[in-house]
Amino acid sequence: MSAAGNKGFLLIRVAIDGPGGVGKTTVSRLLAERFCLSYVDTGAMYRAVGVGASEAGVDISDSLALASFLEDAEIIFEAGTGKIFFNGKDFTGKIREPEASTLASLVSEKTIVRKALVALQKNLARGGSVIMEGRDIGTVVMPDADFKFFLDASHEVRAMRRHLEFAGKNSACDAKGSAPELKDVSRDMRKRDERDREREDSPLMKAEGAITVDTSEISTEEVVELIATIIEERI
Ligand code: C5P
Repeated sequence: MSAAGNKGFLLIRVAIDGPGGVGKTTVSRLLAERFCLSYVDTGAMYRAVGVGASEAGVDISDSLALASFLEDAEIIFEAGTGKIFFNGKDFTGKIREPEASTLASLVSEKTIVRKALVALQKNLARGGSVIMEGRDIGTVVMPDADFKFFLDASHEVRAMRRHLEFAGKNSACDAKGSAPELKDVSRDMRKRDERDREREDSPLMKAEGAITVDTSEISTEEVVELIATIIEERI
């Protein structure tokens, strides 16, 4: 933790990493409120690039095409509202549609995309007290974070959570009004996990010194309390 200017108040920087469906977003938002931290969802940025590139007809397997697409791209993540804008358009709803997860996972393998987004994220991390969630926050974006947590849960629990999340959203339904089936969510999640853990550039892994929290059998509130207690004990 570092003192901000000469006013003596503390800057707290918290890194939350882990695979999809462990509850990172809800937990991070609640902790942000509790400790007055600005909240940054880095997954939203990868999702916005994936959706933006796909809408623009860019071949996302082509690094050169992605590089040229990113040159003119503007991504704004509003810490206060959690909204994300891509080239001025509000992508907040769009990035939560089921195919956005796969698009994000595919573009996130590309070093050119990671370089651009990590630079943006490091910049946001310099601004003050922050809680940032993703896959490489404790390892790459904020290796010097004051607190690092790695949230995890069994595959079955994570897939069920994602399935219920989609089922609660009209935007995730197909033309017949059905949400993706559990077996499809589970299969896509496995593929995404594999890509995230096995990619060469900044794979998903627990950062050195990070505290693992298994969220499989505890509620969101309990996860928040557990992490908040650890933070409070040290500040
Ligand atoms: O966290 P979320 O599910 O929104 O992330 C979507 C995808 O973006 C992940 O599956 C991962 O491939 C990628 N991602 C990443 N690094 C981050 C955050 C997300 O590679 N820091």
